[in-house]
Amino acid sequence: MISHEQQLEELKRRLREIDHLEKANAVLYWDMSTYMPPGGSAARGQVLSTLSQIAHEKFTSAEIGRLLDGLQPYAESLPHDDDDAALIRLTHRNYDKSVKVPTAFVGEVTEHISNVYQAWMTARPVNDWASVRDPLKKTLEYSRQMAGYFAPFDHIADPFIDMSDYGMKTVDIRRVFGELREELVPLVKAITSQQPADDTIIRRYFPEAPQLAFGEAVIRDMGYDFERGRQDKTAHPFETRINSGDVRILTRVDEHYFGDAFFSTVHEAGHAMYEQGINPAYDGTPLAGGTSAGVHESQSRTWENIVGRSREFWQHYYPRLQQMFPEALGDVTMDAFHRAVNKVVPSLIRVDADEVTYNLHVMIRFDLEVALLEGTLEIEELPRAWNERYTNDLGITPPDYQSGVMQDVHWFGGTFGGAFQGYTLGNLLSAQFYEAALKAHPTIPAEMARGQFGTLHDWLKENIYQYGSKYTAPELIQRVTGGGIEVAPLMRYLRNKYGALYQL
Ligand code: ZN
Repeated sequence: MISHEQQLEELKRRLREIDHLEKANAVLYWDMSTYMPPGGSAARGQVLSTLSQIAHEKFTSAEIGRLLDGLQPYAESLPHDDDDAALIRLTHRNYDKSVKVPTAFVGEVTEHISNVYQAWMTARPVNDWASVRDPLKKTLEYSRQMAGYFAPFDHIADPFIDMSDYGMKTVDIRRVFGELREELVPLVKAITSQQPADDTIIRRYFPEAPQLAFGEAVIRDMGYDFERGRQDKTAHPFETRINSGDVRILTRVDEHYFGDAFFSTVHEAGHAMYEQGINPAYDGTPLAGGTSAGVHESQSRTWENIVGRSREFWQHYYPRLQQMFPEALGDVTMDAFHRAVNKVVPSLIRVDADEVTYNLHVMIRFDLEVALLEGTLEIEELPRAWNERYTNDLGITPPDYQSGVMQDVHWFGGTFGGAFQGYTLGNLLSAQFYEAALKAHPTIPAEMARGQFGTLHDWLKENIYQYGSKYTAPELIQRVTGGGIEVAPLMRYLRNKYGALYQL
């Protein structure tokens, strides 16, 4: 009979080994997305898949199951907020999920999805819906089969939501989204009934080098640590944690649109500051990551939107920006620039949407993927249903598949379900957390107007970042706000800000 200390040591040793495989994968994936020559892609894909298969096998081993069962009484004897208790709890939860899905099925689905992704890459630019339609039917079948492994559930979409936003169910998301939609639609109508902001000034010529320099100077001020991170260019910006001493971000530059590089740099830096701020003692364990898709997104949105698109922020940074781009911005006032980076207009493409209409894009996708899983919507009908919702909700109809149902990678690079709700949960939470920070420190906006972010960053570290995945999202929200997820703070923030910008 081995002691629980020995069992815990052995569990941590095994988790560390798995973590090393995953981190090797992360570096290889980063390299693939940045500097790898195109000729390396097929072989690199195989290496990535081998490593993740080995990691999966190691994690689902019977020995991990035995260790977790053996440690159960010890975990229950500890206080709920003890680090070891949290580690055992989270690992057990992940383990139970992983062993439910047969390895052969995972392999089959992974191969199918990688084929769909390849097909989508070719089909999207030429607007070819027909060639992805049948593969998507198969994806839907696989998704329903996948959900089946988690039965019983209240709703077929629940297992997928649970994987990215643990603690929430379809019924919760529907309630929150319904409430938000009711408040958001009239606000969008009120804004769009007015003269739209002129954003042609941020679509002038902005050379790449000063764009990157400006973005990096800003995130350094915000508290992104370049001693423990770096920024490189890629096609689709993301953030990746190698370990607590190495959290990287990636951006892309459009010399004819200022918004692309700058706001994606700040967005990814928001994700990265979360991960740089996690207690380094959690390294090598599942605690060393963001606790849910929604909470992670709340951190990117806080820095990108609440800070990076605020009047206070630009009061400080606009003179410097103007100096760096005298030709593009020499004749543009701070007010005009601030309005341009906050232009609200119903558009077809989610990733380009402003912070007011963005959530309507997310709700459309959430409702459609839930309907597909329920069987109340067929793949054949998906493009029609998509266009109908855009016409109803945003007042515009996609002219083609490319700017409609084929725009997002999610359904073509994964299963149906759970992929989108985190974006809107993140927007809601960013406003809730920021309200809590303001309540504790009402000077935050005044500090921002001086280019100082230390009080906000420290508050986020202390209340959110350091815990990693120690608390579940509902536990964390409860600790920080004293309640659950709410619509009102985001609506207060939006009404306040856009009320001033548009005289509502
Ligand atoms: Zn994000």
